[in-house]
Amino acid sequence: MNQNTKQIINLTKKLIRFESTHDNFRTRKKIIEFVYQEFAECDVYVREIIYKNVPSLIITLQKTKNPKLFLNGHLDVVPAEKNDFCPGIIGHKLCGRGSGDMKTACAVMIEIMKYFSKVKEKPNIGLILTTDEEVGGENGIGYLLKKAGYSSNCAIIPDGGTGLDTVVMAEKGIMHIRVWARGISAHGSRPFLGDNAVEKLMKIYFQIKKEIPDIKKNQWKNSLNIGKISGGGAINKVPDYAEMFLDIRLANEKERKIVLQKIKKITDNFEVLVNGFYFEQDMKNKYIQDYKKTAEKEMGKKIKFIRETGASDARFFCEKNIPVILTKIDSGNIHGQDEWVDISQIEKFYNILKKFIISL
Ligand SMILES: [Zn+2]
Repeated sequence: MNQNTKQIINLTKKLIRFESTHDNFRTRKKIIEFVYQEFAECDVYVREIIYKNVPSLIITLQKTKNPKLFLNGHLDVVPAEKNDFCPGIIGHKLCGRGSGDMKTACAVMIEIMKYFSKVKEKPNIGLILTTDEEVGGENGIGYLLKKAGYSSNCAIIPDGGTGLDTVVMAEKGIMHIRVWARGISAHGSRPFLGDNAVEKLMKIYFQIKKEIPDIKKNQWKNSLNIGKISGGGAINKVPDYAEMFLDIRLANEKERKIVLQKIKKITDNFEVLVNGFYFEQDMKNKYIQDYKKTAEKEMGKKIKFIRETGASDARFFCEKNIPVILTKIDSGNIHGQDEWVDISQIEKFYNILKKFIISL
């Protein structure tokens, strides 16, 4: 392991120790300030922006909001047990919450920025780090790209795909909805006097499910998950209210309207909580092709273009027609216990980034 990789691992370990979850604003602010300090000695432009309780950091090598390339990552993580925030190394794996998603990749990008801040002719690149990807990204990268005037010709987000040998060409759209049903309460011994809201809601659910049936692992179709349901207060009472939260993933952007119409036919009692843009891009794009060539040379194998069911901040770039190189350092158990990243891939990713940036 070279000195550079050791430094990246050390930085990653420090980042993992921050419990930068959604409900922990102060820690998310602290991790952004920590990275700010990392650049204290560097000749770069750094800005911290807090929008709706979401701290973000923008580092550029030239004084611009529109560099050629933006590297982009998020420093927030999903909740975990206390000891998941204590990083550890087992064999070739660095473990801990955020190791795979995506503090190691952020550490690589921070070191890349430091490296290029010291070269004679600085490339026109930047790094954006946000802290709300896990809750939709709207006030982090969403705000910066849509309202704050930031953009670039191309972006790299190491937060998608299955490894460094993959680049994502499409991600499903998101629609999160809340559906509710009202009834009439009565004593549990006299259900004939009431109108059971839970029963009504269950019927609605199965009607929706008929429209969005279960799919198999590799089927590119709409999917439905009932993530949360509640209703009723006591076993001997007919409930007068019930609600459920549905996570619908869309196979393409047209499906959004179609699915909405289908649900409207079933019930009026629903609201859309989150709309996430469907992401698909033209992989013949010059930046993506150049990256592919660079990565293939470094990896010594073919890069595959894949489609992914999950969503990421890439969709905000896609909405602005900015090509995104969405890839990932090999990792596993993302969002689960014993999350890990393959440290043997760190150097490869660093080298790919370095060579790609030089070729820009
Ligand atoms: Zn992520």
